[in-house]
Parts: sequence; structure tokens; C-alpha cells
Amino acid sequence: MNSTARNGSIIEIRGDETANVIFNLVREKLITPYFDVPLQSFNLSLSNREATSDQVTREAAEALKDANVAVKCSTITPNKTSAEALGLSQVWKSPNATLRKALDGVIFREPVVLETVPRLVPGWKQPIVVARHANADQYQAADFVVPGAGELVLSFIPEDGSEPVNRSVTTFGSDGGVALGMYNNTDSIRTFARACFTRALDLNMPLYFSTKNTVLKEYDGQFVQIFAQLYADEFRERFAARSLHYEHRLIDDMVAFGLKSSGGFVWALKNYDGDVQADVVAQGFGSPGLMTSVLASSDGRSCLFEAAHGTVARHYPAWQSGARISTNPIATIIAWSRALQHRAQLDQNTVLLHQADALEQAVVSTVQDGVLTDDLATLCGVESGVATGEFINAVADRFNEFRQVAGRPRQHLK
Ligand code: NAP
Ligand code: MG
Repeated sequence: MNSTARNGSIIEIRGDETANVIFNLVREKLITPYFDVPLQSFNLSLSNREATSDQVTREAAEALKDANVAVKCSTITPNKTSAEALGLSQVWKSPNATLRKALDGVIFREPVVLETVPRLVPGWKQPIVVARHANADQYQAADFVVPGAGELVLSFIPEDGSEPVNRSVTTFGSDGGVALGMYNNTDSIRTFARACFTRALDLNMPLYFSTKNTVLKEYDGQFVQIFAQLYADEFRERFAARSLHYEHRLIDDMVAFGLKSSGGFVWALKNYDGDVQADVVAQGFGSPGLMTSVLASSDGRSCLFEAAHGTVARHYPAWQSGARISTNPIATIIAWSRALQHRAQLDQNTVLLHQADALEQAVVSTVQDGVLTDDLATLCGVESGVATGEFINAVADRFNEFRQVAGRPRQHLK
């Protein structure tokens, strides 16, 4: 890497409510005074999405594909009720869905592990990075209540006019029951697998993929086969060179293994399993304020970093009325530092990399010194924490110190 500070840009995406307050504070106090990286700003607050008929989200997605690096603030996803209450012209769809589609990307949830903050699962010493295959399965299934006696048949009619496939599922008695038809797509599974292998290599972690292929022999069996094939064809040697491994495990076995493990792996899950286990892992690591999230393209080149939590709407009225808030800004700071690190890696800029590392060290040191927001104070058994602004100022003080000596051996967050 060279040491000149010629950087590509970072796309910064503003959002809503308390998350936006924190995002702006972090930007003003920790980023713009110190980092010489051009920022391209997009305002994805709900009011601006409404004002631009969501054009701003599409523009942000295009800009992300060009720049390869983005940091995003949480945004409100309106539902029918809130859209009516706010007088929106439409129930705008989730900006996250638009960005994910544009990147054909996969979301990885990565907890920030701080030695001095106790975890609900005390054995977890290293992060467990959860990757959820956010396509189809139960989420786009056809399900219905079977009203009475009759046969349930699953039928596939080939487009080329060849012989249909018909499978008799069951014959219902007069009490009827319930039925479900579920699918997934080969390309989507392969893209997911590639993104998981790539991310595991980037993080220098082993990869586990869990399914129930002993029961769903064809359905889950196909997922397992696609992962195994891709590993053999493209990743086995690269994993071996780093003494890493890939393994498929049955979901029940994996859940038990995950709980008793010390962490330190990427866990790829199917859609429903990922939905459930992401919340288990988030809770186990302590606070939503410690959970970050990366949307990565399958080649790992384009990445969008954000805090995994939402806009923290419940704390917003206090902020608006001028009262103290103690919302945890750590996931937001780490989203920025990871975006800066990714920019540095793409641009081969060691100076920027060390400065971004120094910012992470400043967060670790602040917490180690006992400066805590309320959520962390509760976890640590301390009566009350500091306000969000005070916490960020404490990080800024330490960052000022550390950045002077940035470049010393990396002491990363785990
Ligand atoms: P949320 O914003 O994650 O907050 C839920 C609760 O978790 C908060 O009330 C707070 O608990 C705690 N919490 C979350 N982040 C915290 C932090 N940094 N520090 C301390 N405590 C924190 O979820 P939500 O209230 O369900 O969602 C609000 C809005 O966010 C919705 O409009 C939703 O659509 C949106 N959302 C956006 C994204 C995204 O853009 N990526 C993701 C999820 C949700 P206490 O109140 O007990 O302190
Ligand atoms: Mg969930």
C-alpha cells in the first residue's frame, strides 16, 4: 500500500429520527475534521423520499455501485398506517430493499465485542457474523387453509412443454388442514454462497452453513450441494491457505454448537432460520447499539455499512424536547470506521487504514475507561451512563491521542 492520501469517495446516506441525530454527531465530531475522504451525500429521510418520489434512493443505489463504499443511517420504513398518518403519497418501500437489490447483495450482521461489556452468553468472546439468505422460502410461499377432504398435489409445468412433474403431498380427511408451497432460485442460492465465502475470507473466519437436509433431502440438499460445489471449484484452496475451513452442519446441531462456542465464525442461514437466529445472536451479544451490519456484493467489492438497529424512534421525543438521550452510538461509529477501512483497502491507502483503526481503538478505550451509554451501563451493572454527546466527545478525545501514533501494530476490535 502507498501512503499518499488520494482517496475514492464514500457515499453517505442520511436517515431518520434518533439514528440521524447520532449519525450527524458522529460525522461532525469524528469524521469530517479528521478524514480527507470525499463524501457524496444522499438524504434518505422519509420526508425527502416523499419529496423526490423515492428518486433519491435510486440515485444513492447507483452512486454506491460506482463508488463501492457507503455508510448508511437507519431509515423509517413506512407501513400502511404510518403512511396514512404522515400523509404520504405512497407506502414507500424499504430503502434497504432497493439498495440490496441494486447490489444483488447479502447482509451480514456483525456484533462489536468489547471485553469489558458482559454478554448474555458469556462464552462468546469473538463475533458471530450472521448471513441470512433473504430470498423466497417461507417469505414468498403460497399457503392456504385446506377446507376439507381431498388430495394436495404439487405441480411443475415446464415452459418448454415437456412432461409436467406432479407430486402427491397428502390426502386430507374431512377436517382439512393447512398447506404450503415454497421455492427458491438456483442463481440466488449461488450468489448467496459466493458472498458468504468471500466475506469469511475478508474477515479471516471459518464459514458454517446450516440446513435440515436430513428432512428436506431435495430442497435443502440442493442448497448444500451448491455450497459444496462452489467451495470445491473456487474457494477450498484460498481457505486452506489461511487455515480456514467451510463446513455444513444440521441447523439443530449448529444452534447448540453456536451457543457453546466462543464465536469467531460466519454463520450462513436460510431465510427463516436467519431471521430467527439473527435476533438470538443480537440479544446474546448484549445491546442493539453494538450490532453492525454490512450489505456486501457477492465479489465483496461493494459494501454498505450501517448500524443494524432502526431509527430508535422511542428516544426521539426526548431529543426533540431537549432532554438528555443516552442512545448508544457505537454501531454507527463502527459503521463509519469499517467504511473508511474498506475505502482504504480498495485505494491501498495505509495512512487512511491506520487512522480508521485508531478510531476503533478510541471506542474500545472509551468503554474500557468506564464511559458508557445507559444500555451498556445496565449490562455492566452501573447505575447510569452518560449522554450520547458526552460519549462521542470522550471518543473524540481518545481518537485525537491515538491518531497521532496511528500506524503502530493494529489492535482491532474483535
Ligand atoms: P429500533 O430503532 O432498533 O429500536 C428498538 C429499541 O431497541 C429501542 O427503543 C431501544 O430500546 C433499543 N435500541 C435500538 N438501538 C439502540 C441504541 N443504539 N442504543 C440504545 N438502545 C437501542 O427498532 P424499532 O423501534 O422497531 O424501529 C424504528 C424504526 O426503524 C422503524 O421505522 C423501522 O422501520 C426502522 N428500521 C430501520 C432499519 C434500517 O434502516 N436499517 C432497521 C430496522 C428498523 P429502549 O427504548 O428500551 O431503550
Ligand atoms: Mg427477526
